[in-house]
Amino acid sequence: MSGSVKNKTANGSADGRKSGRADRSLRARKMRACEIVGRLKKEYPDTHCTLAYDEAWKLLVSVRLAAQCTDARVDRITPVLYEHFPTVAAIAEASEDAIEEIVRPCGLGRSKARDIKACMTMLRDVYGCRVPDTMEELLKLPGVGRKSANLVLGDIYGQPAIVTDTHCIRLANRMGLVDGERDPHKVEKALREIIPPEESNDFCHRMVDHGRAVCTARTAKPNCEACCLADICPKVLGEGCNRII
Ligand code: SF4
Repeated sequence: MSGSVKNKTANGSADGRKSGRADRSLRARKMRACEIVGRLKKEYPDTHCTLAYDEAWKLLVSVRLAAQCTDARVDRITPVLYEHFPTVAAIAEASEDAIEEIVRPCGLGRSKARDIKACMTMLRDVYGCRVPDTMEELLKLPGVGRKSANLVLGDIYGQPAIVTDTHCIRLANRMGLVDGERDPHKVEKALREIIPPEESNDFCHRMVDHGRAVCTARTAKPNCEACCLADICPKVLGEGCNRII
């Protein structure tokens, strides 16, 4: 056998082994994801977005206000905002100062007021006050990133959506669904590969539920003893553990 053919064969089988390992790892992650989806579903049957809204555009406003702010505070502020400016057009026509005055308790008042006014202006001028239903269009709206766009697509339009907020990213790492990945877009891509699309939106809401109730952040330790995933979680069983059931 000539050297080049030999190398080609060796590389070929090395590549084959590599892709075989990747397939097995993806299969294992999918099995783990399905198990977790099922268990969280039982634990949090009535999950939903924790921001209060009754119209699609109001979800856009709330999600912008929620940056670095609690949902509870946002839900206290938005009724005041809508009392003064009850429609997309009313917010578009309001001054930034007037909006900022109301939303200031949510923090980052200036930039949130600017984004909300600009976003509502675009909704009014480009979309006839309707919230668009594609990722591409949503990402063009001022102040709207992938997290907000996914939330709208999932909650308003019932499309498969992965909302990678801090709870989702923290829990996905602890649960072994991603491996040391903190970048929201990369986590979103990785979860899209393994979470059944029809479950994805509620799954993310349940990750928030679980992140708040049990698998809490750094300031409070996760309550692994009370967790429905303790017997399959790498955080408990040891890193690298791929046990599924
Ligand atoms: S076992 Fe602990 S680390 Fe794992 S998901 Fe549950 S609370 Fe979080």
